[in-house]
This record gives sequence, structure tokens and C-alpha cells, in this order.
Amino acid sequence: MRKALHFIGGRLVESARGRWMEDLNPATNEVIAEAAAGDGEDIARAVEEAEKAFRESWWAKKPRERAKVLHRLADLLEAHGEELARIEVLDTGLPIGQARGQAQRAALNFRFFAEEAPHVVGESFTVEGQFQNFTIRRPVGVAGLITPWNTPLMLASWKVAPCLAAGNTCVLKPAEWSPLTATRLAELAAEAGVPEGVFNVVHGLGEEAGAALVAHPKVKLISFTGETETGKIIMQNGARTLKRFSMELGGKSPMIVFPDADLERALDAAIFGVFSLNGERCTASSRLFLHEAIYREFLDALLKRVAKIRVGPPEDEKTEVGPLIHPQHWERVMGYVEGAQKEGAEVAIGGRRPPHLPHGNYLEPTVLVEVKPSMRVAQEEIFGPVLSVLSFKDEEEVLSQANDVRYGLAAYVWTRDVGRAMRFAQGLEAGLLWINSQNVRDLRTPFGGWKDSGIGREGGRYSFEFYLETTTVHVAVGDHPIPRFGVGEA
Ligand code: ADP
Repeated sequence: MRKALHFIGGRLVESARGRWMEDLNPATNEVIAEAAAGDGEDIARAVEEAEKAFRESWWAKKPRERAKVLHRLADLLEAHGEELARIEVLDTGLPIGQARGQAQRAALNFRFFAEEAPHVVGESFTVEGQFQNFTIRRPVGVAGLITPWNTPLMLASWKVAPCLAAGNTCVLKPAEWSPLTATRLAELAAEAGVPEGVFNVVHGLGEEAGAALVAHPKVKLISFTGETETGKIIMQNGARTLKRFSMELGGKSPMIVFPDADLERALDAAIFGVFSLNGERCTASSRLFLHEAIYREFLDALLKRVAKIRVGPPEDEKTEVGPLIHPQHWERVMGYVEGAQKEGAEVAIGGRRPPHLPHGNYLEPTVLVEVKPSMRVAQEEIFGPVLSVLSFKDEEEVLSQANDVRYGLAAYVWTRDVGRAMRFAQGLEAGLLWINSQNVRDLRTPFGGWKDSGIGREGGRYSFEFYLETTTVHVAVGDHPIPRFGVGEA
């Protein structure tokens, strides 16, 4: 049986209490591995190692030396891309083609942040004749990184790369449903020359290992990606030790299509936007708003294409949609589909297990119509291959409906009218907006959400803002007045 061990202080180790968790293959629900089930004791060991490494080895390195190590890690991730993609497929059910893309992106994250780190500079403020002020940027110390199960390797790299590039050390707590690539990433980091204790992995349940990491007084930063409700609990628990948080939470992102758009491309983007990564994507375009003039035509074309999406084993090169991560998640997603019908929506296609796939957590790509903006499937994050389609008459109406959810992560607008596109840019409550585009992100741009979708931004220099502290230095260059106390008559 494959084992996912903790990686603490440069060594693969079992949990202090010797406990294990089962890891399932989403395509079969067979147990494929055991992951060490850590708790406060393992977290304490990992934080101690990370603290020591921060003081003794990592921060002491020149930024260029750190960058060199991270470039070597990027090289190793590229060289092991196929292996990592295959582990991810086994662990998460991501189709192999998409898992390869995620593995490449993981390598790119390390390369990108390694390149950026030496360019982090302070600012200078000249106060003529009186002061020269400037800022110094310094790493904060030990960071706690908590990741979800949808794209585990890519999201770990998204946090670990800027964290280490900035000079911090870390403890990564991967999601319990997808532990495998995290330990492998730590092994490759060690091979690349990341010193012992700089990058630690502790597996375990969120409520045990995760909560202990959040509560640890020596952990200064928490970067979390996951559900909004979990994010709130983490912030409450971290308040006692005054953590700095970066929160990347849920989404219910609208795609709005106007009749003047390139409808062929809009159709491609609508389908890919919600059904890629098995629909388990925080930026999924899960609410499709179609202008009434093209509603019928667009929906017909959409349903024809969705009927042909290849659902199958994730290791099959042809598969476009694989199984959901876990039987519990399958039940949850199906609960939304059933609830929608009770509320008056209709399943236009999908909504059931594909008959040719009796085992595993497979669900047919699902399109819901007759959806009203107030329904749960138009308000809540489903995190599965389920698209809610709505129609609209005019710009004002659709803008207010698009904004009328608790989330504000991403939005997608398809129109050739520049003025209209800009009105949406100014009016939509979303951290990310794509116009006539699918979800393509340059790593320099800020990523994050409004409202219940998160707090803070990561990406490019925004990641460094999070992972660095600032000291403002004030240097007197002349004799500025100093008020004099105690020189008068008593
Ligand atoms: P998902 O549905 O993506 O697993 P969660 O938000 O539940 O979303 O989990 C994301 C990550 O947060 C996982 O690594 C999980 O173990 C962790 N987690 C869950 N609960 C807590 C908690 N109370 N404290 C710290 N981490 C937690």
C-alpha cells in the first residue's frame, strides 16, 4: 500500500501517535493509500523545524541563492511532470490531460516566483533637507499553508513558491482527500537543495492538524484556499494569535453572453469554464446568463455539445470529465441537482450517474434550465459539473442579478461593444473579470475575490505583499527641530 508520510525537518516520518487516514481513488473508491494522520504534536515538531530553518539556513541565503534552488525545483517538477500528473489523477480523478496542465503550471509557479524574488525592492521617500526615508522588506517567519483537494499540486506550488522565494519557511497542510502529491513535492524540493526544515508537510484532518497549525503562536501567516465557511472558522481560531491571513474562498461566477458576441467562442468558453477540472474549480462559470434574443439558439448548441462531452476514467487520454473527488462530495452535488428540481428548475441534460460507469463518483455534465436567481443553484457554490442557465433582457437587469450573490470571485462577459464591456468592468463585484476570454491568468496579475470569496490578493508582487513584512526607516539628514522638554524653569 502506498503511504503518504509527513515531511518534517527533511525526513519522511509517521505521525507521532502512529495514526493513519485512508485515501480513495475517486474512479473506483478503492483505498489506494494511507496518509499519516497528524495532529498538534506533529504540527509542533514541524513548526519547530521551520522556525529553526528560518533563522539558521533559509533567510541567511542571498535571494539569488534561494532563487537558484527554486529554479532547480522547477526543473525537477518539469522532469517529473508525467509522474506527478499520474499521481494526481489517481488521487483526485482529474482527467490526465488537465492534470498534466496543472503539473506544468506548478513548475511555472516556482520558476516565476524565483525570477520575481530578486526584484522585490523597498520604496524611498525624500523629505528635502530633513529626512531620507525608505522601506526594507523582510520575510515574516513561519507560514502555515492550507490547501484544498481540487488541484492539490498546483495550489501547493501557488503558495509554497512565493512563500519560500520571499525567504519564509512553511508548514503545508494538504487536504485529507488528496494527500499524495504534497509529500512528493517536498521530496523533490529536498532533492533540489531546499534545506531541511524549510518546507514541511503535515497531513491530517482539517479540524486536527489544520486547526493546530492555525492556533500555533509561532506561525505568523496563514494562506488558505477552501470553502468560505472553513475560512471563517480559521479566521476565528487564528484571531487569538493575531495571524495575517490570505483567504481564497468560494465562488459562484457569472458568464454573461450578449447577442453581439462571437457566439462560437463564447460557447467554447462557457462549456470549458464550468466542466473543466470536473467542475471542481473555484472560478467556474457556474451561472450562465444568456440574452433572451439568443437564449434558445445558444442553449440548443450548448446541449448538443454537452451531450458529447466524454465522461470516463481519468487516466484515459480522451476523457474530458472524470469522477468527483469523494462519494460524500458526489452526494452533495447530487443534492443540489435534486433540490433544484424541487424548487422548479429543470434538468435539460445530465443530472445522473452515466449508465456506463457504475462505480466511482461519476456524474454526467449537467445543465439546469428554468433557474430563478433566488434558487440555491443560482446562489450557492456547487463545485461540480453543474451549470445553471438563466436568461436576461437588458444590461441593468443582468448586472444586478450577477452581483446578487454572496460571492465575488470571477466574472466573464462576452460582447463586442467596448462601452458595455467597460460598464461591466466598472459595475461587477468580482475580483477577476474576463472579457471575451476564458480563464487565462498571467502570473503577475492579482488573484482573489470580493465579498465571501476572500480577503487579500496573491499573484506577482501581491504575493510578496502578503509574504513580507515592512520596516520604514527614517534617517535625519539635517538638524530638524526636536521639541525640548525639561529645559524651562521648574
Ligand atoms: P474542501 O471542501 O475544499 O475540502 P475545506 O475548506 O473544507 O474545503 O478544506 C480546505 C482545507 O482546509 C483542507 O486542507 C482541510 O483539511 C482544511 N481545514 C478544514 N477545516 C479546518 C480547520 N478548522 N482548521 C484548519 N484547516 C481546516
